[in-house]
Amino acid sequence: MLKVSGLDVDPEVLDLQNRAMRHVGAARPGWVPRPVPALDGREVVPVYSGARGLIVRLLTWLPGTPLRGVGYFAPAVLSAAGGLAGRTAAALADFDHPAAGRSLSWDVQRVGDVVAAIAPQVRDRKRRELAGRVAERAIAALSSHESNLRRQVVHGDVTDWNTLARPGPAGQLLPCALIDFGDVVRTWRAAECAVAAVAFGTRSPHRTVQDAALLLRAFYAVSPLDEDEVAALPAMMAARAALSALNCQWQAEQEPKDGYVTAGATESWRRLVILAEVPFALAHAAFREACGLRSSTRPPTAARTSGAALVPELDRLVVVAVDLSVTSALLYGGAWTDRRQVEQVVATASSKTTVPIGRYGEARLTCDSGSTQDEPATIHLGVDLFLPVGTPVMAPLPGRVAAADRHGLVLDLDGVGGLRLTGIEPTVLAEGRVASGDLVGKISPARPQALLPAHLHVQLVPSSVRHVPFLAPASLATAWRAVCPDPSPLLGFEAAVGPPEPQAVLARRRRHVASPQLLYYSDDPPQIERGWRQWLYDVGGRPYLDVINNVAIVGHSHPHVEAAAVRALRSLNTNSRFLYDALGRFAERLVALLPAPLDVVFFVSTGSEANDLALRLAREVTGRRDVLCHQSTYHGWTTALIETERAALGVPSAESGHVHGIMRPTADPATAQRSLEHARRLVAELGALDRPPAALITEPVLGNEGGIVLPTGHLQQLYAMVRDAGGLCIADEVQVGYGRLGHHFWAFEQQRVVPDVVTIAKSTGNGYPVAAVITTSQIADEFGRRDDLFSSVGGSPAACAVGVAVLEVLVEERLQDNAREVGYYLTERLRSLAQRHPIIAGVHGMGLYRGIELQEDGPASARMKAGAICDRMRQLGVIISTTGDARNVLKVKPPLCVTRDDIDTFASALDVTLTQGW
Ligand code: PMP
Repeated sequence: MLKVSGLDVDPEVLDLQNRAMRHVGAARPGWVPRPVPALDGREVVPVYSGARGLIVRLLTWLPGTPLRGVGYFAPAVLSAAGGLAGRTAAALADFDHPAAGRSLSWDVQRVGDVVAAIAPQVRDRKRRELAGRVAERAIAALSSHESNLRRQVVHGDVTDWNTLARPGPAGQLLPCALIDFGDVVRTWRAAECAVAAVAFGTRSPHRTVQDAALLLRAFYAVSPLDEDEVAALPAMMAARAALSALNCQWQAEQEPKDGYVTAGATESWRRLVILAEVPFALAHAAFREACGLRSSTRPPTAARTSGAALVPELDRLVVVAVDLSVTSALLYGGAWTDRRQVEQVVATASSKTTVPIGRYGEARLTCDSGSTQDEPATIHLGVDLFLPVGTPVMAPLPGRVAAADRHGLVLDLDGVGGLRLTGIEPTVLAEGRVASGDLVGKISPARPQALLPAHLHVQLVPSSVRHVPFLAPASLATAWRAVCPDPSPLLGFEAAVGPPEPQAVLARRRRHVASPQLLYYSDDPPQIERGWRQWLYDVGGRPYLDVINNVAIVGHSHPHVEAAAVRALRSLNTNSRFLYDALGRFAERLVALLPAPLDVVFFVSTGSEANDLALRLAREVTGRRDVLCHQSTYHGWTTALIETERAALGVPSAESGHVHGIMRPTADPATAQRSLEHARRLVAELGALDRPPAALITEPVLGNEGGIVLPTGHLQQLYAMVRDAGGLCIADEVQVGYGRLGHHFWAFEQQRVVPDVVTIAKSTGNGYPVAAVITTSQIADEFGRRDDLFSSVGGSPAACAVGVAVLEVLVEERLQDNAREVGYYLTERLRSLAQRHPIIAGVHGMGLYRGIELQEDGPASARMKAGAICDRMRQLGVIISTTGDARNVLKVKPPLCVTRDDIDTFASALDVTLTQGW
């Protein structure tokens, strides 16, 4: 790499750059370019052509892709970037050079001088003023730490433009090398981190603090900062953003036609706008948390005992906490979205002697659960006191009215600081003084669109933060709790709940639950504590669109299903050897859904039991052992069934096992034809061995392979072959049946066949264990002549009540029709995504059972990519998983109550993921 500089560049500075490169390279070989000396040994060589000259340097070339232009940085990328910056700073800690003390307009420690020099020359007033404001705030904040900040030589420009990356295992580009030592300078050590945090942490305005904290965590691990440095970081980031924005804007105004320069100005402006909104106090709290430093917040010093009650008689009332959190037992059936029901819940805790309160720190369900791609604000940062409209509210301590409007006020209490009281009509004016016990307002009626009834919201708010939210996103809960501490001491009663502890929950599971019981997102799983319709909520109150759960076919926590289960569990739940009405009724309803001659039902609890029983029926009835299935496909976990998953391509011999794999068909007619030919050979070979098949077991639409719809007539031919050989045909409808395909209630209808045995589970109980084997009375009776069946809980009154309720909801809510109609829309959206994103190799399935097949391109395997795409989708509020042999198929099988809006949510999250990266 030949680097060319003008003759005006100080050769000492070029020497500084070269030596810094050598120094870092010695500690981290291969990380940075190495200067290559000329034949005469010089590394900085002036070259002249007549009177004109240049300075050239030769550097080694480093392989890798610049990260510039990448739309999204995954946590792994942020950590790698933080590690790169941290190790560079550590490597340069013992380096110095006479030119390192140079004055550089990108150096954050010079922010004051640079703003003074450049800002007046910038023509764009809006940009100039914003940069000026941000810089001013940063300078003020830095001044209190400046004397304690360590200085050293730093690279000074660890950004996405200057880092080279290599694809990691999931196809994410992971930073691995650093180029461009043009900004090497002696400055604050922490500036190395601040610069990287601005560059990498500002992709999303909603995640800036979290992303910067992730990067800092990795930086800190290899290059620890001290308390002052961590405290100064937010202001350093702001200073850097202001400097870049001003420098770039000024350059762009000088060279408006230079695309590189104008693009830089646009980008740095975008970053400044984001950082201008980040409160330093919040970032500081989050950064301390990232570095494992204890919270520096002190709870209010003036406790309630030293002042007056906020509302009359508060001391004598019994405080009753109303649980409005995700894990609340008071809120179900979607009650949190309905004001009347929330009011009712609060009212039941209210009496002459009690005051219901909403606690500090709880993850609220009461807030909006829209289909947002950004994490919603759910963590309550104050305490709510539900009191009658008109209740007087008093100042608890003396102070000043810092602000007041028609919704409430902020008091600046002596010795405590800001206290926000909202939900009241103030009776005092801003700027006035108040004494302890002075009336400051009266509780006002709830706003028309509010979900909570009238209440006084009490919150400690620092004066340094301009816009303090009422609720915070869970990922910033600890930081916001440090900024707005628990007001319990001021109120005189305990009103806080601790933050959720998903890590402890995970640790308990890891300790006591067998490791082969798999976990979604195993590295960092969300703690899911609630389901409602097509949504799952984590313990922090974040809703996710559930695209995984075909089991919850009518939607999570369906009130009709719940009521049926509760009724049965309250009155009778025993085994099917007793005579009770529910068993026959459920059987009758199931049989009515099936074509003749399928007319009797065996009840069990899971799909595995159903398929296992189906095989046993076939073996007993035919007196044979051999079974055909599609090559390595899943029908359940029992010892008999796991053989189908392990079944390689069948080549029967005297020694072979009894389960034989048929080459798997696809939607492609030629492949399907080859599969039929293979099946024919298998049947013939088994016949020749005098071991004709007892049965064939298949999913009529290949769900586990991603929803492969077989060519017309495929199963007809396969069934005919098996039946000609005297075997039974078992249709595994556990995943693909029950209306999910939209056009058909049963997947076998799509193939125009009638099986001898049908197995159902999963959807049958909407998550409650309900499963069945449906067959002909002839087969059942034949089995009965040799054997009987007893399942202790299969077909229990509760199972049957739930089973009937699920069928009722399917009919009443026309969910099969919905699967068809919304399924059409899903097809449209997926086709258009496939046109724009070549990674999509194909879209399979029908209705609301779909597979999106991803193809190999580039070094990362499609499997790894699919996993990383699922992780990114989760960040965007969508829960989805993979299937297929190579786990390269994204499986789409949501509850059937999804709407077109949900499909838009899903498709747009997938679009963002495939466009920005994962
Ligand atoms: N058959 C198929 C096609 C399945 O996908 C599954 C489960 N994924 C089963 C049977 C087994 O069902 P269960 O987990 O209820 O035992």
